[in-house]
Amino acid sequence: MIKNSYYSISIVCIFLLLVPFYIFASESMELNNQGVEAYNLKDYERAIFLLSQAMTLNPDSEVIKNNLSNALQALADEESKKNNFKKAVDIVDKAIKINPNNFFAHLQKGAFLLNMGHLMDAIRHLEIAVKLKPGYLDAHELLGEAYYRDNDILSARTQWEYVLQIDPNRKQLKERYDKACREEVVESSFNKTVSQSRHFNLTYPKEVTYQIRSYVLSVLERAYLEIGRKLGGVFPSGPIQVILYDTQQFGAVVQMGQTVGGVYDGKIRIPVMNEKGEGLSDEEIKRRIYHEYVHVVVFELLKDKVPWWVNEGLAETFSKEFSSRERTMLEQFINNKGLIPYNNLEKISIKDMFASETKMSQAYLQSHATINMLWSKYGQGRFLNFIQALKRSENVEDALRNVYHLDYASLSKGVIQFIQR
Ligand SMILES: [Zn+2]
Repeated sequence: MIKNSYYSISIVCIFLLLVPFYIFASESMELNNQGVEAYNLKDYERAIFLLSQAMTLNPDSEVIKNNLSNALQALADEESKKNNFKKAVDIVDKAIKINPNNFFAHLQKGAFLLNMGHLMDAIRHLEIAVKLKPGYLDAHELLGEAYYRDNDILSARTQWEYVLQIDPNRKQLKERYDKACREEVVESSFNKTVSQSRHFNLTYPKEVTYQIRSYVLSVLERAYLEIGRKLGGVFPSGPIQVILYDTQQFGAVVQMGQTVGGVYDGKIRIPVMNEKGEGLSDEEIKRRIYHEYVHVVVFELLKDKVPWWVNEGLAETFSKEFSSRERTMLEQFINNKGLIPYNNLEKISIKDMFASETKMSQAYLQSHATINMLWSKYGQGRFLNFIQALKRSENVEDALRNVYHLDYASLSKGVIQFIQR
């Protein structure tokens, strides 16, 4: 919604709550009800006056707090329509003070600040809004606009692409997005050392082309948004360090054999070129980035309280399909020696990784299948509960039992059924 290049966030009329006198025959509730009357007459200043008095008398009432916040936000909205943004910000600040997690108040404040040209502060409040309510498209669009104005076209594009993917009918946004993309193509030749985005810092050898770097940054920003959302709104404040290599350099640094596609050890380390200096395919680079970025988010959530099979299984599940080829491979392993006991998959050392490549490949496949099954069969909400249970519990199987009503034996059965269906 663009009006004269200003962004406005319009308040849908909110009904305030009256409290019946026969339940709370107190002075504060009488003031509350008078405040509501004033609000309904759109006399917001009087409503705020009365509701503030009510809150002084009864500071713990959620009803009064909400009513006062809504009245403040309605008045702020009116002021912004008269272009009194400074005043609007002061008013909405009071609502944020009452409840620092008021999504709509942060969104409003971000919009007002954006109109005032205070970009850094606008970005701060819009980022808070997006964290409080990920998926609210107007907030993502507005945040994209703030990034764009801050000359961070890449981050802007990430937000806008996300909005347009869900709602392709936003015509003005589509035009704005296309324009930004054209600008980006031209301006990229002005500045060859793009090595930073909103949330990531990139270090790379000089052989890594601009094209690869900018692709990597855009995929990272995408992963930041998508995986953060999937795991319940986890958005590390960063910047997260990312180091790119060719496969030979990578091998020399991490020393874990050719099969390893990337590492997260507090920094994301990914080979993006082969020894001949040719870039890996976009798809392969994307898969590696998503895989490692899942580890970043899991670390943010659970630190070291995460079993290996959950961590790797999740990284695989969010970075690639569990394909029929993988299904067949795992089936062969199972027919051969059965599943690896989950107890043995809770911790895997570097030594295990070297001991047997076949065993490692089964460990990855099995973890991938397990998380894939849990995620697709029981859904996101249950999985987020599982993560919370892992955080609290000393024992992985207990957490599994509490949330999924499965022990390791029945989990194994479930996975085998999932493979063989
Ligand atoms: Zn991994």
